[in-house]
Amino acid sequence: MNILLLGASGSIGSQTIDVINKNPQDFTLVGFSVGKRTRCISYILKKHPSVTHVYMIDEAKAKYYRKKYPNVTFISSKTNKLEDLIDMTDSKMVVNALVGFSGLLPSIHALKANKKLALANKESLVVAGELINKLLDQGKGELYPIDSEHSALWKCLKVSDTHVKKMILTASGGAFRKLNRDELINVKASDALKHPTWKMGDKITIDCATMINKCFEIIEAGYLYRYPYSKIGVTLHDESYLHSYLEYEDGSFRGEISKPDMRNPIKFALYQGHITFSTQSFKSLSDLKGLHFHEFKMERYPLVSLAEFVLNKKGTYGAVLNRANEEAVHAYLKDEISFLDIERIVFKMMNEHKNITNPSLSDLLKVDNDINIKTHEVIEKIKKGEMTW
Ligand code: NDP
Ligand code: MG
Repeated sequence: MNILLLGASGSIGSQTIDVINKNPQDFTLVGFSVGKRTRCISYILKKHPSVTHVYMIDEAKAKYYRKKYPNVTFISSKTNKLEDLIDMTDSKMVVNALVGFSGLLPSIHALKANKKLALANKESLVVAGELINKLLDQGKGELYPIDSEHSALWKCLKVSDTHVKKMILTASGGAFRKLNRDELINVKASDALKHPTWKMGDKITIDCATMINKCFEIIEAGYLYRYPYSKIGVTLHDESYLHSYLEYEDGSFRGEISKPDMRNPIKFALYQGHITFSTQSFKSLSDLKGLHFHEFKMERYPLVSLAEFVLNKKGTYGAVLNRANEEAVHAYLKDEISFLDIERIVFKMMNEHKNITNPSLSDLLKVDNDINIKTHEVIEKIKKGEMTW
């Protein structure tokens, strides 16, 4: 199957390349995008002479690559939109490993073009879950989640999707899970980026530390599996071995246990749910040396409560949640605001927003733009010490 990979230079993107490299009999890479990091381009082109098109942000670098590889078409943000790659390449599946809002229009474009969409970019569903489900209902596009929790739930639902009482997402608690809220006042982004389990992109690492990532994942599960908020829960789990589970009405549980390795859910999505076995799992359950679970407490991670808001009220709240968070996280990564300011900014934007129900794509884009401006005004006030909460 021909694959177009968006976000090849990132954590999920490079692991997708790994999966494709190991399964050349099933997958052919026909195009890919990077953002600002271009170092992987030559490596990927050497491994995949099937690539016809590459997108990158910087036009000067695109010029350089056009000379170096005259048989490949290089486009840049100056010449094209990222989603143009979807029309230019002969792909059946689009893997969206972009981070943040940058993934939204490519997701929508891929579904409109009736592609199979393997989606790591959960922000697409947070911002536009309703719209994406409409496209799935009306067109021939297909959606396969890459997020490990949703991949585990997908496997469980395949075995039995009736009499499910609740779907439960497991959560590590993020980099600051051992700290209480008073101890969060001075934590720095550089501390959070030392994530305990595996190396992810910077934004999702901070999203895990604030746990807005889990809020996003509840929303993602709600739209993917069309479950109401009341049937989705969270449990803290230290080892990250149980990737999520279903609780059935008869009191039984079904979940997936394996070593955390994103190549497994990536592979499951690329094979569209036709089981391929993990190469790297436990030889025996006795290797696990204990699994530890703790009750999730909303007071410790208040951002998670906003999932109820978004799934129940829908409309433009997801767009607000995403943009306020995205800008706050960027400011925190630059040490411009404190860790708890992220939360304050997101709550402020959500509380002040007037929801638009059944939004069109242009409504979502407008709200995204407005919130971007408003969030930056607040960040500027914080930087000048003028913000009082
Ligand atoms: P990374 O930051 O590592 O990678 C993001 C990719 O998107 C990079 O290739 C980056 O390009 C590209 N990109 C960012 N902005 C733009 C832009 N404006 N135009 C074009 N390309 C852009 O993120 P991750 O791989 O960690 O995460 C990707 C998605 O997967 C996120 O939505 C995340 O929540 C989700 N996810 C990630 C997991 C993980 O383990 N990493 C687990 C589950 C979900 P460049 O770096 O070259 O600028
Ligand atoms: Mg996840």
